[in-house]
Amino acid sequence: MNRSIVPCDFATGRGHESPEDFRRDAGAQSAPIGVTEQHPFWSLDRNDWVPAGKLHRGERVLVAGGTAEVGNWERAGEEPVYIIEVEGDHCYRVGQQGVLVHNASVAVAPESVSGDAVWCITDEFRASRGLPVLGGAVPVPKDKTGSVAVIFKTGWRHFGLNSKDRNAQENQLARAYYQRMKDANTFEGFNVVNYGFGASTFLTHSEALSLIEYNEHAKGAVASTLIVYNDRETCGKCLTYLPLLLKFLGIQQVTFINKGGSQFAVNATDLPSPKNPPPTPESGV
Ligand SMILES: [Zn+2]
Repeated sequence: MNRSIVPCDFATGRGHESPEDFRRDAGAQSAPIGVTEQHPFWSLDRNDWVPAGKLHRGERVLVAGGTAEVGNWERAGEEPVYIIEVEGDHCYRVGQQGVLVHNASVAVAPESVSGDAVWCITDEFRASRGLPVLGGAVPVPKDKTGSVAVIFKTGWRHFGLNSKDRNAQENQLARAYYQRMKDANTFEGFNVVNYGFGASTFLTHSEALSLIEYNEHAKGAVASTLIVYNDRETCGKCLTYLPLLLKFLGIQQVTFINKGGSQFAVNATDLPSPKNPPPTPESGV
């Protein structure tokens, strides 16, 4: 059981006297969630952490196994409220519906998710796709937990996973990009005869699919720099060959932030050396 995504304990206490304290209902949940105004919730509508005080009525927030809408809210004043106890874990769920909230210390920033919040998001995605939920664990090679990458851009989350965990549509998409890259001579000089082998192996990995999904959504109008979060360490194949995809998509630089703690940039100009370089012109000797 993933410790970080279980209902947290509620502590019944007196409402703070601060006017910033209030309570807010989430959907059909019977018990209100008592939080401070700054407490971040993951908003599906804004694709971002949103302080509780900024949530709108009807705004959708993530819950276990689905979504819920924010209902009525009211200031608690002096009446007793439930105060969410934040333990050491980075994310947790509250109440019967398991609303995804986050430790209030997280910085809410557009298109990037600070701290460990992003790994709650990848775990959400894992749960929705039947993959193992990791909690605080970091995948290691051959542990069969798969890999989930996510890009926060254009107001959406663009997820990638490995080919064996993809649905048919996702695999078709990656194959289509393989063909497009091949037609554009992106693999020229490399021994690439089939999708998913040799220099095109990286297309079967999570990082590449997140980039492809983003490119699809952006209809090719991609940003020059991006952040890709991946809950597994980037493999050697991806490190070597991802620049081919960046160049193909017109992305200059991707910063990878991996769950294990590594962070590094990959540039479109870091192109690998072809295994079979074309014959060099006569030097004139
Ligand atoms: Zn890889």
